[in-house]
Amino acid sequence: QAGLMMNRPLLISGILEHGAAQFGDQEIVSRETHGPLHRYNYADAAKRARQLANALAHMGLKVGSAVGSIAWNNHRHLEAYYAVSGSGMVMHTCNPRLHPQQLIYVINHAEDEVVLFDATFAPLVKGIAAHCPQVRAWVCLADAANTPTIEGVNVMNYEDLITGHSDSFDWPELDDQTGAALCYTSGTTGNPKGVLYTHRAIVLDATTACLPDVLGFSTQETVLPVVPMFHINAWCIPYAALVAGTKLVFPGPKLDGASLFELMEAEQVTISAGVPTIWMGLIQHAEQNNLRFSSMKRTCVGGSAMPMALIAKFMDNYGVEVRHGWGMTETTAVATMSNLSRADRLKPAAEQHAIVAKQGKTVSGIEIKIVDENGATLPRDGISQGELMVRGQWIVERYFKAEKTALVDGWFPTGDIATIDPHGTMQIRDRTKDVIKTGGEWISSIDLENAAVGHPAVAMAAVIGVKHPKWDERPLLFIVRKPGQSLEKQEILDFLTTKVAKWWVPDDVVFLESLPVGGTGKVQKNELRKDYGGVFS
Ligand code: ADP
Repeated sequence: QAGLMMNRPLLISGILEHGAAQFGDQEIVSRETHGPLHRYNYADAAKRARQLANALAHMGLKVGSAVGSIAWNNHRHLEAYYAVSGSGMVMHTCNPRLHPQQLIYVINHAEDEVVLFDATFAPLVKGIAAHCPQVRAWVCLADAANTPTIEGVNVMNYEDLITGHSDSFDWPELDDQTGAALCYTSGTTGNPKGVLYTHRAIVLDATTACLPDVLGFSTQETVLPVVPMFHINAWCIPYAALVAGTKLVFPGPKLDGASLFELMEAEQVTISAGVPTIWMGLIQHAEQNNLRFSSMKRTCVGGSAMPMALIAKFMDNYGVEVRHGWGMTETTAVATMSNLSRADRLKPAAEQHAIVAKQGKTVSGIEIKIVDENGATLPRDGISQGELMVRGQWIVERYFKAEKTALVDGWFPTGDIATIDPHGTMQIRDRTKDVIKTGGEWISSIDLENAAVGHPAVAMAAVIGVKHPKWDERPLLFIVRKPGQSLEKQEILDFLTTKVAKWWVPDDVVFLESLPVGGTGKVQKNELRKDYGGVFS
């Protein structure tokens, strides 16, 4: 028998109007690309989002049109998130660190009609604009004074674009399965693939993300999303904040440890979210300058594995809780989150760190399983490793413009190798393409990197598999030393011998000044493979 409740669509415009009506005076603080902090509130942001919606309609954009962005985390980008999706258009966030050829590819593939960009990326726009013929306007997210002219490109500025337009707008009543936002995977092999999020997926994910044991948002909190808005919707934080009424602090282009620390203190940030490399920079800054956090309660980390040594520092030395989650472009935002249960909090510190180092439990609405090469489900014993499969309301079904489904028997294959324990806690062991296959066994590059970062002289570590005539592959370790530290090959290998099985110890070590880090803050192992992936003799 059918239930008898209303069937109202779950729409992004609904989040905006809820935020503006219920928490209109809640603050949004945003670092402008040219430096100063901009401050206003939810009600102002909603007015300007409606103005932008009117401006885009005035330009002739329609339901289904795509609007691209090449932008930092800032308040105008937030307005665009709501204006574009709210009017039934597709907000296509571009990763500025894509190779220009790939950027051209995604802008054309998405059929962006307008592209919003920050002044930082003007040189990029100059290089790609001529190759994106369907883009009618390039709009700089600034006022006239801070908008550069770009030779040969019709550049508008955002403030002029919205000025004079009404700040009321009738958001369309869309089907909530309408495409709202588009994000392409980084495309380390081949062309990037687009994931077209629905309104429904985003609203459900954003609402779930607010739960106390996920991001834990409320009117009492202040969140600083370091995770970029061009990457997986900044884990849906720009939506979740307005669901819960949380103060938003946007860092703009300034993502170094010193700038983040200063902003966290000045705005009394309580929650932040980003990839581990960002937290390394922040901790190093705090350590070098003997600083303490006065308001930070927790960091939410994901995107790549958070090393145990860093978890320990945040939790024990700084009293900042670490929540470690897993997700990917294809999962809209966070799909699993580690958390300490009441019983866990009574355990010794080292055991707590080990629990947080896992990627945790599924958030409500998501299911996971692990399978072997034949697709058979493996036991949840914490030992069996297999490919992680995921399904749920906000998991991709097929890539943008793809003819075939991306699913296998109704599940999305993630390309990650994981274990799941009897309590449902998932741990990523590696990516299928990064795991080192040696003598018929697997070595987890993540575990090796984690162990290496535990050495006090190591700032960053990465491990790749290199072809080996006898063993198929063997691990090669890359180390970036901390400034002023002297560490030699034998010393780090001896250290690792005390931490991992003997056959896991890398065959060689390369010391580098820095590791290649992509736009989303992850180490680009492909770059390392290109330069060092020869053959061990
Ligand atoms: P890519 O990193 O390939 O550009 P995504 O940005 O979508 O693509 O990242 C998703 C991938 O990042 C996951 O499949 C997984 O391999 C990795 N990842 C995400 N979170 C974690 C985590 N907490 N620990 C380890 N790996 C993670």
